[in-house]
Amino acid sequence: MSEFKKPTSEQEFEENFSQIKPLMNDTEAYIESSRCLFCFDAPCQQACPTGIDIPLFIRQINSTDYTGSARTIYSANFFGNACGKVCPTEVLCEGACVYTEQNVLPVEIGRLQNYVSTQAINEDKKLFEVGKSNGKKVAIIGSGPAGISCACELRLLGYEVDIYEAKHRPSGLTVHGVAPYKITNEEVLREMEYLQRQFGYEVKYNSPIKYAADLQKLEKEYEAIFIGIGLGSTSSLNIKGESLDNCIGATELIEKLRMQHHNLVVGKNVVVLGAGNTAMDAASESARMGAEKVSLAYRGAKESIRAYEFEYDLAKNVGVNGVFNVSPLEIIGDDKVAGVKFIRTKTDNGQLIQVEGSEFILACDMVIRATGQSKQVELLEQIEGLELDSLNRISVDAQTYQTSNAKYFAAGDAVNGGKEVVNAAADGKQAARGIDTYLS
Ligand code: SF4
Repeated sequence: MSEFKKPTSEQEFEENFSQIKPLMNDTEAYIESSRCLFCFDAPCQQACPTGIDIPLFIRQINSTDYTGSARTIYSANFFGNACGKVCPTEVLCEGACVYTEQNVLPVEIGRLQNYVSTQAINEDKKLFEVGKSNGKKVAIIGSGPAGISCACELRLLGYEVDIYEAKHRPSGLTVHGVAPYKITNEEVLREMEYLQRQFGYEVKYNSPIKYAADLQKLEKEYEAIFIGIGLGSTSSLNIKGESLDNCIGATELIEKLRMQHHNLVVGKNVVVLGAGNTAMDAASESARMGAEKVSLAYRGAKESIRAYEFEYDLAKNVGVNGVFNVSPLEIIGDDKVAGVKFIRTKTDNGQLIQVEGSEFILACDMVIRATGQSKQVELLEQIEGLELDSLNRISVDAQTYQTSNAKYFAAGDAVNGGKEVVNAAADGKQAARGIDTYLS
């Protein structure tokens, strides 16, 4: 049973979605930074996909060199503030901190990172100078973490950069797809404005690149094109009843929630299908939006869920109930969702099989499909010579991120199939260097 009442105002919404990693004050930051042992070959740094020099930025906080600390962070990761909040630090830097080997709480690296990056943003600290113009122009499709990171690095290298964004605001899933208790819209957008002021790239909003003619225009106007389009809508389960009212994809629900806040209405009795990190977010959010009962249904065993353990714990802590070894057969209802018909499963000789005659119906008034996102194949197929792998991910060179069409580069979810913000930020930056090598 969920403990949250449906929020009826922005204030109640903020209370239900209070930040799980709140901002540190000066004293907390000083004490926490004093705990760092400044390890040689720091395992925390090695665990960070962007390789931030973590002991250095913590030491700089401890010696009150806040500008130097922010520069250390942003030199490695342009999403320094967002990543401090949305990264799964529990399994990355903090998970690798030497303190964990002694069963002691790790240094709170993510919150220290936020402490100093928030200061830099609020004070509009100028950390970088853009490179001398080389007269070359690059187009970027998509203003998510990969696209923005690629743009920042290209500007440092002296390129003119235009970003084409289908939506009305930047940052991709960081603002549209992350649970609001991890980061607020305002925080995400403040960092985006900070970067744009500092790096001076242009973002053309409400400018989707959809057709062959759009691509041809870019090919004529720009020396190289970077694809940072992420993933598409939630994949279909291909079962009956998916088009009923109140059956929605998890990413679509999270996007609506981030746009509508307390005005979004969720069901009283919600079933989430899936057990990845997005499923956990959608389940937690439903509970925080006042759903009385939230069940998370997964076809495999509890031990085989794809979500990080701490994400499952977060969901359980707000009253989400896990139902395992159940496979959905049909979503029941006339016009509107009334339940899900499941069949039980079991593992037999390493194979997951359905248990004959074990069908049952779980009543509910909302179904959230957290079954992965589709690839944006329609656009990609229009790019001449662009190779996709068997999972429809864009094939790229592992070092340069160049695709099989020499003029196009790509990184982020459209290449890796769906990883963290930090992976997209790291790869987008690396791709900018690949573009520079190609154009030099
Ligand atoms: Fe500091 Fe922990 Fe990193 Fe060592 S592993 S440098 S103690 S944060």
